[in-house]
Amino acid sequence: MGSCQTGRRNFCRRIISLSCAGLAPLPALAACFSEPSPNRADKLRVNMNSGNGNRLNDFEPGYLKLYRSGELRARAEVLWDMMRTCRLCPRECEQDRIRGQKGDYCDATSQLQVSSYNPHFGEEKPLVGRNGSGTVFFTNCAMLCVFCINWEISQRGAGHDVTIKQLSNMMLMLQKMGCHNINVVTPTHYSPHILLALEEAAAGGLRLPVAYNTSGWERLEILQLLDGVIDIYLSDFKYFDPQMADKYSPGAESYPDITRKAILEMHRQVGVADPRANRGILQRGLIIRHLVMPNNVGGTGELVKWIAANLPLNTYVNLMSQYTPMFNAHEYPEISRRLTVREYRNAVSAASAAGLTNLDIQGV
Ligand code: SF4
Repeated sequence: MGSCQTGRRNFCRRIISLSCAGLAPLPALAACFSEPSPNRADKLRVNMNSGNGNRLNDFEPGYLKLYRSGELRARAEVLWDMMRTCRLCPRECEQDRIRGQKGDYCDATSQLQVSSYNPHFGEEKPLVGRNGSGTVFFTNCAMLCVFCINWEISQRGAGHDVTIKQLSNMMLMLQKMGCHNINVVTPTHYSPHILLALEEAAAGGLRLPVAYNTSGWERLEILQLLDGVIDIYLSDFKYFDPQMADKYSPGAESYPDITRKAILEMHRQVGVADPRANRGILQRGLIIRHLVMPNNVGGTGELVKWIAANLPLNTYVNLMSQYTPMFNAHEYPEISRRLTVREYRNAVSAASAAGLTNLDIQGV
């Protein structure tokens, strides 16, 4: 799952658990799976242009140009066709999802499934602003991390079937609610659906930047089809050592190599994240998220050195301190505890020593 353990995940888990428990869902979620309509946002008494920093300036998200030229549709169709012998993620399991086969790892057919959507306030500040990041959580994930904090969604299929039209309406509703971006979380196996929904939403007036919130384990061929569609990449960079990747995300030993190439491509497409251009609200750029893990299983020192050597030193790097042993982490003694203050400080020191100047550092 993209960014397995950010603070926002805790927030989201709370929402899901409320829903699963049969308790009254939050207002935004109440509309989730009952024919979401952008007009329903009016009843929530939120104003799209209220608050600080969300007035739609002259920024134009990339997908609009591609929508007008018909290229967005063409790219969506290429991606859709890939589901016939699916190669949307590096697992390349070649299941025929169009004919109803489930992915060997993502467990997804071509039926789109969403777990929740809502304004989210646990992301990086330049995404959250005052009105939140318009987050859509997709069901399932091919990464299979043993410590995933959202394992019910990523590995147990918590979510609901939705149509492309419903997804586009969710995007429009999040815009009406004042969110600063559309944040698609764990999008890889549903990239065709996202582009199709963006086409519909663009026709309906969507003007927000789209943030692709990914594990980072992305094939170059897919990223090149997203070039010009995605405005913001939120990419995890979990492991630097293939053996660690294989151990904690079973079968993903290619993760470090593929993710390094993917991050370079993401940077080529959108550049350095610089929220100053829009009063602190990010509209374009790359954010790298590295979850610092106990006993340095993520290889933080080498990882930050690689970033410093291969990307601008002011690349936005979020060093996340909130690792919590969840799901099957207890089966691995070396990651069955939280991070120590010393471990996190060592990670920050390593990033600073590498020369990185744009670090998002958290309390421990
Ligand atoms: S996205 Fe799913 S079906 Fe497609 S290659 Fe990956 S695991 Fe297989």
